[in-house]
Amino acid sequence: MSIKQRLLAFFAIVICIEGLTTFVLAKKATETQFRTYVFAGDAEKAKVYAGILGEYYIEHSGWEGLQPFLSEMPAFVFSMLDEKIKGDKGFSPASTYSYSTISALLSDRIAVADASGRIIADTSGKLLGTMHPAMHLAQGVPIMSDFRRIGTVLVGSMVDSTFTGANEQFLGQLVRSLTIAILVSTIIATLLGLALSMRITRPLAVLDGAARRIAGGDLSAIVPVSGRDEIASLSASFNTMSGELRRLDEAKRRIIADSAHELRTPVTLIRGTLEGMLEGVFPIDPDTIRSVYDETMRLSRLIDMLRELELIDSGELRLSLDDVDVLASLEKAAGLFRAQAGEKGITIEIGNGGADPISIRADILRFDEVLYNLIANAIKYSPRGGRILLSAEREGDSVMIRVDDSGSGIPIPERERVFERFYRMDKSRAQDSGGRGLGLSIAYEITKAHGGRIHIEDSPLGGASFVVTLPSA
Ligand code: ADP
Repeated sequence: MSIKQRLLAFFAIVICIEGLTTFVLAKKATETQFRTYVFAGDAEKAKVYAGILGEYYIEHSGWEGLQPFLSEMPAFVFSMLDEKIKGDKGFSPASTYSYSTISALLSDRIAVADASGRIIADTSGKLLGTMHPAMHLAQGVPIMSDFRRIGTVLVGSMVDSTFTGANEQFLGQLVRSLTIAILVSTIIATLLGLALSMRITRPLAVLDGAARRIAGGDLSAIVPVSGRDEIASLSASFNTMSGELRRLDEAKRRIIADSAHELRTPVTLIRGTLEGMLEGVFPIDPDTIRSVYDETMRLSRLIDMLRELELIDSGELRLSLDDVDVLASLEKAAGLFRAQAGEKGITIEIGNGGADPISIRADILRFDEVLYNLIANAIKYSPRGGRILLSAEREGDSVMIRVDDSGSGIPIPERERVFERFYRMDKSRAQDSGGRGLGLSIAYEITKAHGGRIHIEDSPLGGASFVVTLPSA
């Protein structure tokens, strides 16, 4: 069952329950109110009848002949009216209104009980001679004579709970109007429910279509975002997801293309040199063989770096965390690179050597790798006779490790991009110095995997200052 069908079924059930409840409650309330209204009218009439009947009692010295009197009352009133109006105005109701019309006007059921509660007259004749329960008598109006209760008169609803002709008709009309009102509101509610369910399900159908396109490999799929509800938020998240997929796909393509390009260069060099040697163009001497060997070393270093990035990307890089003494690591790294730096007349100093130990929580091999990448770069991009300064300081819960150099520095717009894979600021120069544009990406990813970050500032030495921030131990 689709969401649309489920919503429609839900709306239909709710609307039916609501319609039925409203109908039952409104009908009951209307009937009760109407009964109260009719009873009030009957009570007024009963007071008038009580007066007439009191006089009847005195005139006849008792209730003798009351039943025929009551049954003939319409005829009596009719003839009285007829005579009175004809006499006054020369107009006869008898010529205009039939006897039945007048009797319909006087059609109230009237019952009279004597002082003992026995019904002595009833226009319908049904209760004649029966004892009327005191509880029901209490609803009637007492007939008084000489301050004495001589009987009780009950009119219409006081004696008969079923509605009479006109009242019945009125109530019927009211119930019909109520039914129509509920039917109309049910139809309107159903239409509104239909519109609402379509409003909810249409964007879902659009999202479904877009998701299918992505599943089919079309990453350009996006959906319109309208409003500020949950579906709009879902659509926006969908667009973010498809954007991220496009970005990843693009990055993947670029990395494959760049890797192929970077691998092709040393392979071409090796093949060219070997072909030259085979054809006798290049001499087969230790120098030529060494140049081929150097290229294979570059090639395997490049393959190692790609493999390492692949491990990081797939989340397979396992870190074995330990407390690492940063200053000891800086000393060790400086010692390792001093000879290489010395070839360019570059000095490596430790900023806060001999200070209190500063510890970080890190995988020592990976941390050393970051340091070696940064120091190798500092040597590579510093001029002859330059300076390199290694330092570390505590900063709250973190430790900041700095590698400063007196090289050319890195302009602000490039400071994010140098961490991208295969990105090199000055391609020809970097190529000359053997750079592949992967060292900083690896340093960046390793730092990130430790829950830290790496960024670039201006160094007081004039060049770049690479700042690695890692959690302290
Ligand atoms: P590469 O193998 O080219 O050095 P990296 O990822 O290590 O690759 O560095 C990316 C680029 O960042 C380098 O090509 C270089 O342009 C720039 N760079 C890195 N370190 C420094 C530095 N200390 N001073 C100036 N530029 C640097």
